[in-house]
Amino acid sequence: SAKAAGSNQWAFFKQHMTERAAVRLRTEASLHDALKNNEFLLYFQPKLDLQTGKVVSCEALIRWQKDGRLISPISFIPVAEETGIIIPIGRWVIEQSCKVLREWQKKYNYAIPIAINVASQQFADASLVPDIKQMALRYQIQPELLEIEITETSLMNDIELAIVKLEQLKSAGFGIAIDDFGTGYSSLSYLRHLPITTMKIDRCFVSDLPEDSAIASTILMLGKQLNLTVVAEGIENEQQLDWLKENQCQIGQGFYFSLPLPQAEFEALYIATQTATIRGLHHV
Ligand code: C2E
Ligand code: MG
Ligand code: MG
Ligand code: MG
Repeated sequence: SAKAAGSNQWAFFKQHMTERAAVRLRTEASLHDALKNNEFLLYFQPKLDLQTGKVVSCEALIRWQKDGRLISPISFIPVAEETGIIIPIGRWVIEQSCKVLREWQKKYNYAIPIAINVASQQFADASLVPDIKQMALRYQIQPELLEIEITETSLMNDIELAIVKLEQLKSAGFGIAIDDFGTGYSSLSYLRHLPITTMKIDRCFVSDLPEDSAIASTILMLGKQLNLTVVAEGIENEQQLDWLKENQCQIGQGFYFSLPLPQAEFEALYIATQTATIRGLHHV
């Protein structure tokens, strides 16, 4: 009967929800353990000045080393956001990046900036700005060397509050980039008021190049008008690179140059490109 079918569906739904909740609880518990047992790592993907071919900065990307495997942030950051554990994980990323900056300063006298990703929920949390300031102070980091990447969508959640927080970060000297630009829905009138330094063209628009360049052109034009640095994400081939160079995109990152690398490999690549430029390094 329809009633029996309905109640079966309900039972199915309930079971499904229970499993989902159970998976979430298990993942949350293992993320807590991961923090405690130091199972997170930062990989570094170089960002290049497209005109000179030199590495000028990098993006820190988190990895979870679990039972000998590396787990991608795509599979645990969303759960970390749902459960709130993103706050201590995000704090770990901030501290670890400051440690690495300090290490580079001491070891090589590097002044190479690191960009870190901040999740929506972490951006909304009141502890973010004081945490970043405190870590920079503790590790004696020049704030210009730390860039905060925030997605367009996170900023638009509460635009008034976002402006206040970004002002605080910017006036303290930190760099601020809008990540995955073009995939959210920014109001262009607000964009003018955002105290940001950089826009990152989302990978999906770079992968359309050179055939379909309308969005990339528009973002580059907007960046020029607003006096912002434009970074192209996800450059995978020479044709994309050539188009971006011809259209005055300043900075780029992508597998065409390098995958995200463990710290030591990134350092080696950085040193190598200070003496010679690279055009295409696929798998370093
Ligand atoms: P995102 O911030 O937009 O980072 C760029 C992602 O694109 C990275 O994936 C990077 O490996 C990948 N990528 C770079 N170049 C290419 C390319 O040429 N082709 C392709 N197909 N992909 C490329 P990853 O490391 O898996 O990170 C995925 C996302 O996870 C990041 O996107 C970011 O939203 C999030 N994430 C990573 N690390 C952190 C973190 O420490 N904290 C937070 N909150 N989120 C993070
Ligand atoms: Mg990013
Ligand atoms: Mg991105
Ligand atoms: Mg992304």
